[in-house]
Amino acid sequence: MSVNLLDFDAKALAGFCVEIGEKSFRAKQLLRWIHRSGEVDFAGMSDLAKALRDKLSATAVIEPPRVISDHAAMDGTRKWLLSVGEGNGIETVFIPEASRGTLCVSSQVGCALACTFCSTGRQGFNRNLTVAEIIGQLWWANKALAEEFDGGGIRSRAVTNVVMMGMGEPLANFENVVTALDLMLDDNAYGLSRRRVTVSTSGLVPAMDRLRERCPVALAVSLHAPNDALRNELVPINKKYPIKELLAACRRYLQSAPRDFITFEYVMLDGVNDSAAHAHELVQLVRETPCKFNLIPFNPFPNSGYRRSSPEAVHRFRDVLMQAELITTVRKTRGDDIAAACGQLAGKVHDKTRRVSRGIVEAAR
Ligand code: SAH
Ligand code: SF4
Repeated sequence: MSVNLLDFDAKALAGFCVEIGEKSFRAKQLLRWIHRSGEVDFAGMSDLAKALRDKLSATAVIEPPRVISDHAAMDGTRKWLLSVGEGNGIETVFIPEASRGTLCVSSQVGCALACTFCSTGRQGFNRNLTVAEIIGQLWWANKALAEEFDGGGIRSRAVTNVVMMGMGEPLANFENVVTALDLMLDDNAYGLSRRRVTVSTSGLVPAMDRLRERCPVALAVSLHAPNDALRNELVPINKKYPIKELLAACRRYLQSAPRDFITFEYVMLDGVNDSAAHAHELVQLVRETPCKFNLIPFNPFPNSGYRRSSPEAVHRFRDVLMQAELITTVRKTRGDDIAAACGQLAGKVHDKTRRVSRGIVEAAR
């Protein structure tokens, strides 16, 4: 069976070259063709010898996930639904801004962590994405956007920042995500700086430590509550890794992080976690952890059971944090008209955990 070269970072590609009897430096050329030029056909790799191109065609493919649909929102946000086989689909979102273009990348088909306010979490879990499926989202976005703006060739790159904030928990798919991160940072591939690549986690403490050692990119942590009782409810993984342990892991992470703060994400749920008292409690909680806050107005989805906080509640909350000298931004909701906002990415997930039926059984007890 052919191997998919999109699954390989520089090191793995060098290993593959040696395996097929080539010098390992060919990996660099291959990386540039695959990721910088977006080439999928070995025949088009003009600076490789014909014999090598033939050998590659016989043993390997370059196969990104197939695009099922492509939506553009009024504000320029783009959303692609990519097929990942067996009727499953994942979503990738591109958010253009004046000085940067951010791609929101998915890491899993569904998510097993079941945060109560998250559409992906409600769908259950199917499987981890492969490296090709993760990096394929960036590969595809750069190619599609370049074709649109300058008629092909990935010279002027549209994607300047990547956030692992799509479907899934990136640190629950650790190896594949780290390999994809290596490619994002590799100068022969996407050449992004560590500061421009952000992993967002709901707080898998041991994996945060491993990320710090292996590939310390910028880190965002989904906090969402100022105490364990409420966080246990909203982010169930908190029962395993409570807030105190999570904050200690954040401080350890900062020793290697490319930025000198952690970004805390906080989804604003009307009447649940958005009072001034919650904000004051939060200020006390993070006193010893250098951080910034990103408040995310809740993005509704059918039968969520939650409402978005009012703009007044969001401002009041922000003001309490700002008065305590915590830098706080309110995330603008982008791509509303195509359901591309945080937490709305649904894709197509065939749940393998049968959480829904389990839930019914538990509720009946
Ligand atoms: N699993 C990771 C990354 C994906 S979710 C994590 O949980 O951090 C990216 C961000 O969107 C997280 O902060 C998540 O809590 C938030 N989010 C999820 N559902 C949301 C919703 N319905 N409205 C607003 N934000 C949401
Ligand atoms: Fe998973 Fe993140 Fe959604 Fe929680 S918020 S269910 S961790 S994707």
